[in-house]
Amino acid sequence: MPPSKMTPGPVIGAGGLLTIDLAAIATNWKMLQAKLGSGVTCGAVVKADAYGLGLAPVARALKNAGCDTFFVAQAAEGLALRAILPEAEICIFNGVDPDSAGALADAHLTPVLNHPGQIKDWREAAARAGRQLPAFLHVDTGMTRLGLSEDETVALATDSPALEGIRLTGVMSHLACADLPDHKLNGEQHKHFAAACAVLAPLGQVRASLANSSGIFLGPAFHFDLPRPGAALYGISPQADGRHPMAQVVKLQGKILQTRVIDTPRTVGYGATHRAERGRHIATVAVGYADGYLRSLSDVATAHMDNIPVPVVGRVSMDLITVDVTDVAENDARPGALVDLIGPHHSVDALARQAGTIGYEILTMLGTRFERRYLGEQQL
Ligand SMILES: *Cc1c(COP(=O)(O)O)cnc(C)c1O
Repeated sequence: MPPSKMTPGPVIGAGGLLTIDLAAIATNWKMLQAKLGSGVTCGAVVKADAYGLGLAPVARALKNAGCDTFFVAQAAEGLALRAILPEAEICIFNGVDPDSAGALADAHLTPVLNHPGQIKDWREAAARAGRQLPAFLHVDTGMTRLGLSEDETVALATDSPALEGIRLTGVMSHLACADLPDHKLNGEQHKHFAAACAVLAPLGQVRASLANSSGIFLGPAFHFDLPRPGAALYGISPQADGRHPMAQVVKLQGKILQTRVIDTPRTVGYGATHRAERGRHIATVAVGYADGYLRSLSDVATAHMDNIPVPVVGRVSMDLITVDVTDVAENDARPGALVDLIGPHHSVDALARQAGTIGYEILTMLGTRFERRYLGEQQL
């Protein structure tokens, strides 16, 4: 059942309801996989608690959809995911250090080796384990954050003892401007990545991985063997031009605590930034910046009740926002009623634009106080 058709029961205790549609996540993964050529497999990035949506339910939904290769940022996230998915391939973007190497090896996790120091740490872990350990290599092609430089890549290709005990399972790089299809860095990174793969080819034929969500939409040349989408799986648009091919995953609703009818003009909220005229109806909703409803949304965000826009007026405070519900029937805007903050009429991307940020930040900032409901779990 799509979230838009859902009539939620009462939210007991919480200030709002966060509904996460696992079936939509599965649909999105299958849609991306279907865009790929034969022999290309779609991975999934589930770092940061699956972009704030819940690692365990999201990872299980993706696994059941057919995904077998997962990426997280940190070793601790990989260990948590291993407890959820005993068999899947799990890669750690941030790689390995001497403190985490033993735990990664024991849990059969695959670090992405980003620099010569990490290659050494993993080689030593393999020696201690007395067996071959899997690893991805990261080559920097223009992001200038993590990854081997061109010189380091060439040096590694001619220094096979450096990889003793390490079984390379993939080579990856990361696009800086994939959401800007016309940006010249895309083509340059593609060229450098293909060159790095050729340089490393003597070490063995391994999977090449370049594209994130937006990279998939740059076309088949960018797919290589293993795209790594995150955002698009969670309903964030991978295309900046407003096209939105993905199914919506998240619905966020806040509960009305009180509604006031303004009899004499007065200001609303901290800083008195909004002036409510006589006759306006102002509803106070139990969601605030402590829940990830960013303060930059003050006086600019749009919420909805059914399909009626209700503007956020006044400052967002820690636990509360105020919305002008004058256009909504008085009986509908009563205490206990739910206001849609993210939903069918207002996507994550649309809210992010109003906040001056990106959908990624909106999702990963969503707080822990909402009641969370997962849709589509039973079919999985
Ligand atoms: C987060 C991340 C991804 C996923 O990016 P999306 O834009 O969310 O699809 C892929 N690769 C790396 C290295 C990442 O850090």
